[in-house]
Amino acid sequence: MQQGLLIVISGPSGAGKGTICRALRRFNHNVELSISATTRAPRRGEREGVNYFFKTVDEFKRMIEDGEFLEYAEVYGNYYGTPKSYVRERLMEGKDVILEIDIQGALSIKEKFDDAVFIFILPPSMEELKRRIVKRGTESEEELLKRFNSSYKELNFINRYNYVVINDVVEAAARKIDAIITAEKCRVERN
Ligand code: 5GP
Repeated sequence: MQQGLLIVISGPSGAGKGTICRALRRFNHNVELSISATTRAPRRGEREGVNYFFKTVDEFKRMIEDGEFLEYAEVYGNYYGTPKSYVRERLMEGKDVILEIDIQGALSIKEKFDDAVFIFILPPSMEELKRRIVKRGTESEEELLKRFNSSYKELNFINRYNYVVINDVVEAAARKIDAIITAEKCRVERN
């Protein structure tokens, strides 16, 4: 069986990464979303083991020591990490696995996986980005500002990614990612 494709998706908070991935899963049943561990508090409506595995800082540090992460990073003052075993098992089963992680995580995956595919999601405009983050209503004003400011910095790293997808219409963006996956599987040589 052919091993699955590892797909890394990054982009500013509010660009709609999660929404696009969920839309993609509705028609691409070979794709799995990796569930990260985090020390951030759950947002309204988030569930343990569905959105994240919520950990204390001590628990997270123990997981680092035990080598349980494929990568981990500190983002907006909290730890986030990709569990190693889940990702490796799914890839071996031939599933394509999406990691929705920040730029630091993406760079460390780049060092470990030669043939991972890196996709950066952009909102149609920075104004729209601001509107989406505010509308989500899950962050404090200070947190919003932190996320919005770091969005600008992240844009400097776009050239480290293989593809950029603009999230204007969710369904269309999900179709583009599906097309990228199909194209990558037809590739003779990567990188
Ligand atoms: P949020 O708090 O909005 O869910 O996520 C904040 C940021 O952390 C987002 O950019 C998200 O992609 C990133 N993130 C989520 N999980 C992971 C992970 O496992 N590793 C890394 N490096 N970043 C992650």
